[in-house]
Amino acid sequence: MTDWQARAAALYTGDFRPMFIGGAWVPAQSGEVIEARNPATGALLATIPKGSPADIDAAVRAARRALEGPWARFTPFERQALLLRIAERMDAEWETLCLSDTLDMGMPISRTLLNHRRIIGMLRWYAGQAVAIHGATIPNSFPGEILSMTVKEPVGVVGAIIPWNGPMASAIWKIGPALATGCTVVLKPSEEASLTVLMIARIMQDAGLPEGVLNIVTGMGLEAGAALAAHPEVDKIVFTGSTATGQAIARAATGTLKRVTLELGGKSPVIICKDADLDKAVPVAAMSVFANSGQVCIAGSRLFVERGVQDEVLARLADFAQKLRVGDGLDPGVDLGPLISARQAERVAGYLEAGRAEGAALITGGTRLSGADYGSAQFFAPTVFGNVTDEMRIAREEIFGPVISALPFDTLDEVVARANATPYGLAAGIFTRDLGTAHKLARRTRAGSVWVNMYHAIDPAVPFGGMKQSGYGREGGVEQIEAYLETKAIWINT
Ligand code: NAD
Repeated sequence: MTDWQARAAALYTGDFRPMFIGGAWVPAQSGEVIEARNPATGALLATIPKGSPADIDAAVRAARRALEGPWARFTPFERQALLLRIAERMDAEWETLCLSDTLDMGMPISRTLLNHRRIIGMLRWYAGQAVAIHGATIPNSFPGEILSMTVKEPVGVVGAIIPWNGPMASAIWKIGPALATGCTVVLKPSEEASLTVLMIARIMQDAGLPEGVLNIVTGMGLEAGAALAAHPEVDKIVFTGSTATGQAIARAATGTLKRVTLELGGKSPVIICKDADLDKAVPVAAMSVFANSGQVCIAGSRLFVERGVQDEVLARLADFAQKLRVGDGLDPGVDLGPLISARQAERVAGYLEAGRAEGAALITGGTRLSGADYGSAQFFAPTVFGNVTDEMRIAREEIFGPVISALPFDTLDEVVARANATPYGLAAGIFTRDLGTAHKLARRTRAGSVWVNMYHAIDPAVPFGGMKQSGYGREGGVEQIEAYLETKAIWINT
């Protein structure tokens, strides 16, 4: 038994874990529960409340009371101090938090541990933002008579809905800006992975978060999630998840004209030009998809390769993919963990079948892994399809599995047009040694983040988000902070 396995056995023992409403740890009003299972083994980790619209209503009312209660009197410096305390306590429990994410959603421990800057660093950055928020005095047409100025106020009660593929980061990217700006939050984690979010709420409570400022309602999307998106007392919805759900949420939020931020799906292009440094480009392009077994919104799953280097890139990709270790992410040597659920495994198996049927060349992988090492049968070999054409489903649809679709290209104009020919616009990668080519491609690609000779970088101060049907609004950067604030103009007749 590895050290991680021993710690895992003690962390979740199949018991009931309540949710967090108005500062209290409670079951669902209906008494119903959802099972939280380890996707690598199928083992029961815990049961959690199956929150209903009635629980959402209780949480929203608690968040409204907190917004108008003592939380409103917290100074920016007190909010900063609280955020720093939370960062410190999460830092102290970092390994346990990472272990929880690995158990709950399968991401290998070797990768969850790498997210420290994205989570603890982000909290510290939000703490800095808390004391940087300010309005302005603005010159007007009546100098000396009338003073006009702006002040920034919290947008109010924030409803946050997050997916399962990176629960810790998704939660912090929504709770952090809310605390920095003085908002309150009702957060609904994914029914597939709620446990780490509950652990975060406990840490925040211990750090001194006043009751009702953060509420966690676990439950199903179509029940608790839909009730939150439509609740009239919610002022803003921040959502990360699929484009289809984002559309449903935007429709539900229209009723009371909630502010809406949407971080949605993608089918991001990665372009390898023939002058690229392939020693760097191939591993990075491969891991842009294979990290978290492809269950990443920014997965660079359309790999455009300039024809002159196509054969070499495919050969190197196959070699790289075959060396990756797939298995239970509690083993620190494992690179790829399981897919989140049997449903997701069926979906990915369907795309592997579609790729073959539509005539793509299977370069490596293409199989579901079974046997003693692969308990839950939700493991897949990292897969590369070559000779993919733009019309194939594996080139158009978000697979959310470890599958690269490689497409050859001949000219830069052509690859820009093809890379942009998608309803999505979340991210893009470009590999070239030519600065001019890098600059031109970066400017012409319609994507919220473009990485040159790298991928995956996300930093607190740099805005992240999508164009087109990958969503609207940004997380990180001052753009995100602004989205949690209202600007009020005040006129004073002197
Ligand atoms: P999902 O859309 O199925 O679910 C996301 C969340 O929405 C869950 O909490 C779910 O319970 C809830 N939900 C479902 N239906 C709802 C409804 N009608 N009303 C309100 N809430 C509802 O997505 P998923 O399968 O959990 O996650 C995978 C998707 O998330 C992928 O498409 C991926 O690209 C996307 N994603 C995007 C980003 C980003 O930053 N752009 C990051 C991570 C994941």
